[in-house]
Order: sequence, then C-alpha cells, then structure tokens
Amino acid sequence: MSTPISISESSQNQNVVGQIHSVESCGTVDGPGIRFVIFTKGCPLRCLYCHNPDCRPMTDGKQVTVDELIAEIEKYKSYMRFSGGGVTVSGGEPLMQPHFVAEIFKRCKKLGIHTALDTSGYADLEHAAKPVLEYADLVLLDIKSFEPETYFKVTSVPIEPTLKLAKYLSEINKPTWIRFVLVPNLTDDPANIEGLASFISTLGNIEKVEVLPFHKMGEYKWEQLGYDYQLKDTQPPTAELVQRTVDIFKKYGLAVVS
Ligand code: SF4
Repeated sequence: MSTPISISESSQNQNVVGQIHSVESCGTVDGPGIRFVIFTKGCPLRCLYCHNPDCRPMTDGKQVTVDELIAEIEKYKSYMRFSGGGVTVSGGEPLMQPHFVAEIFKRCKKLGIHTALDTSGYADLEHAAKPVLEYADLVLLDIKSFEPETYFKVTSVPIEPTLKLAKYLSEINKPTWIRFVLVPNLTDDPANIEGLASFISTLGNIEKVEVLPFHKMGEYKWEQLGYDYQLKDTQPPTAELVQRTVDIFKKYGLAVVS
C-alpha cells in the first residue's frame, strides 16, 4: 500500500519545471467553459478503468517550464474569457507536483484566468493540497467509490485521504464538483452510491455531482502498454442504471449531471 503524496518544495523561483503528458487547448469537459487543460505525469492510483494509463509513470513525460505553459495559455485567453472558461490541471494526479501546479495557478490568477484542479484527492493535505488550493477557483474531486473495500479494489489505494480532502474543501467553502465513475458490477451497488450521496450531502460546498458512465476508450492504451485490462468484459452502464444512480444522488438534494 502506498502512502499519500508529500513533496518537499525545492524551488522558489517562478520558472518551475514540471512533467506533463500533454495539453488540450480547447477542452470542454473538465470544468466550465472552454478550457486549456494540462495533463500532468505521475499517478499513485491504479484505477481499473483508467483512460489515461500512460499518465501513470512520472518518467517519459515532457519537461516544461511554467513560463512556457503560460506563454501558450495566453494565446487562448480570449476563448476562455468569452466562454467563462479557464485553465484546468488534470492528470495523472496533479498533486504529485504541487509546487509546479501551484505556480501555474498563481500565474493564471495574476492574468485573471479561472483555475480548476482535477484530483483524486490522494495527496498529503498539508504539503501537497493546501499550497495548490490557495490558487484554485474550483476543484473537480473524483470520489471513485465510497465503501472502503470497493474504493481499494478500484484504485489500489485507501479512501481516507480523499475523504479528508473533501471535508477540508467544505471547511474552506471551496467550490467543488464531485465526479463518480459508474461501473457495472464494480461501483454500482446502491448501498455504495447511497453512502457516497449521503456523505456528499453533508458538505456545504458542492456545486454539482457528475455521474460519468464507464467507457472503454482507454482500453487500447492498456494493450499498448502491456497492462492487464481487467474490465475487458464489462459493458457501459445501461441508461436505466445511470438514471437509477442519478436518482439516488438527487434524493439527497444534490444537483446531478450525467
Ligand atoms: S486517478 Fe486518474 S490517472 Fe490515476 S489511475 Fe485513476 S483514472 Fe488513471
């Protein structure tokens, strides 16, 4: 079992270097409006349905400086402004490179650009999450299950750091969207979803819950990487199952999209 990420801050200058997988200049699914999305390298989770398994290793990424990224981001500022968009840092797990991500967000804030962090929450709260959250306008928090055994089965890590982060986000009233991937025969147990919905309903900062139906678009990457894709025989959820899941979240007074 791995432990949550805690990375010491080594560089204080603005031209911090990070490892990224890629960028998407006009993303529309990772936060509001049109967004410049940065996919960082490195992830301590091993989600069975991961659609970015090539983001997991910290090696073989592209080294970029914050200056280089900001120069690129500035080219898309007008799209972001007119669409109510901004910059999202996703991954991988962005909180594996907290100083890098905090620096990107800090520079975006100076430029008046909205910032969103897409995270699993599996990180050291004090040393990795808090420095980044200071400059994040929105958090997209993936809670991949609620029952601890199911969470571990899905991700190979424990759920506690994610719940701790969720509670902290509520304490500081940080606007947060919860993302939940619905996988038949893995995360779809009504008791699991009820537990998650009930927990989320105790938080005061949740703007919406996104129920994301499982898909296999990343399967070919697993094959290319020589990883064992255990969900080969799992089908996407039916419309009925998605609706039943949405209804559970709604029952707890949550705004839900699927
Ligand atoms: S947290 Fe995201 S990148 Fe990491 S293994 Fe899970 S789905 Fe893949």
